[in-house]
Amino acid sequence: MINLVDLKRQFESVKKEILQEIDEVIASGQYILGPRVKELEERIEKRIGVSDAIAVANGTDALVLTLDALGIGKGDEVITTPFTFFASAEAISRVGAVPVFADINPLTYNIDPSEVERKITSATKAIIPVHLFGQPADMNEIMEIAKKHHLYVIEDACQAFGSTYNNQPVGSLADAACFSFFPTKNLGTMGDGGIITTSNKELAENIRKLRTHGSTQKYFHDRIGYNSRLDEIHAAILLINLEKIDEWNENRRNLAKRYQQYLQNSPHIKLPFEADNRTHIYHLFCVESVMREEIMDELSKSQIQSGVYYPLCLHLQEVYAFLGYKKGDMPQSESVSERLFAIPMHPFLTEDEQDKIISILCKTGGVKNDN
Ligand SMILES: *Cc1c(COP(=O)(O)O)cnc(C)c1O
Repeated sequence: MINLVDLKRQFESVKKEILQEIDEVIASGQYILGPRVKELEERIEKRIGVSDAIAVANGTDALVLTLDALGIGKGDEVITTPFTFFASAEAISRVGAVPVFADINPLTYNIDPSEVERKITSATKAIIPVHLFGQPADMNEIMEIAKKHHLYVIEDACQAFGSTYNNQPVGSLADAACFSFFPTKNLGTMGDGGIITTSNKELAENIRKLRTHGSTQKYFHDRIGYNSRLDEIHAAILLINLEKIDEWNENRRNLAKRYQQYLQNSPHIKLPFEADNRTHIYHLFCVESVMREEIMDELSKSQIQSGVYYPLCLHLQEVYAFLGYKKGDMPQSESVSERLFAIPMHPFLTEDEQDKIISILCKTGGVKNDN
């Protein structure tokens, strides 16, 4: 079986170091928000070039705590994309605000800045662009719009650790950014985890307070907060994986190049588009085809996993029926959601495995015979 991601191979490659570190965590007697979490925060601050990184329990909490710390809640609107994992919008609802969806650019699948501008009202407080599948959103345009309308921008960078925009790392491009360390994310642990990066000291302080029950001094509370902390074991694992992440991202990019090279003549497969001035780290490698079902069936018959990202846009989710959107409101997102699917992509995919995937895609998706 060739899987979409292969976590067993990934963790096997660093198992010795991880086991040794876990031993040391056990011996230390400190299990939550200890020295390893602090070291992880400091290393990520340095790497991304921000004043603060605050580790939390998961990527969803990273979004929720950031929105809450910015004072966003009831009566506020936050603009995001309908073509993302549910948590991007769920976090907005969780703090009591209303998610407002703006359609995507069908080439990059990222939120379309001109659609964002169209959706701004007097209640709009923030924009959450998502760096979908590992490709940074159009941050210059989005930051300009935000400046003009006095809005906060929070990067949902959960799928994009290590990607860059105009040579700047994602996580340093807006007021704050949120990352997830869920195991399948390109930088992941063996459980849940997340981190927020920001260079706004006051915001960082508020988020730090929120993550431990709204307190800065033990047993004294001046806010209703959360319990959203990172464990030492996860920090230890992430410190090891952080050393590998550039190599792993490079492997992904090389595999992406091979897919591009060998599938470019397939008339029924549309390959991912890399926009200018950014690095796409291919958290997922998604292709479009009107023959999606047929191709996925053929892959499955050959023991190759594939998956639909995302089958139902967020504005059409049952839970958001009350927002009043209908089919046709987000034509680009809806159209892409009918054709897009992911094929295996992870740093440990071998060229032999990839060749097998490519041959089935060419057989089913067709090959132009004019060359
Ligand atoms: C994974 C993901 C999240 C949520 O992260 P968790 O750690 O699973 O809570 C949020 N947004 C996007 C775009 C994601 O892919």
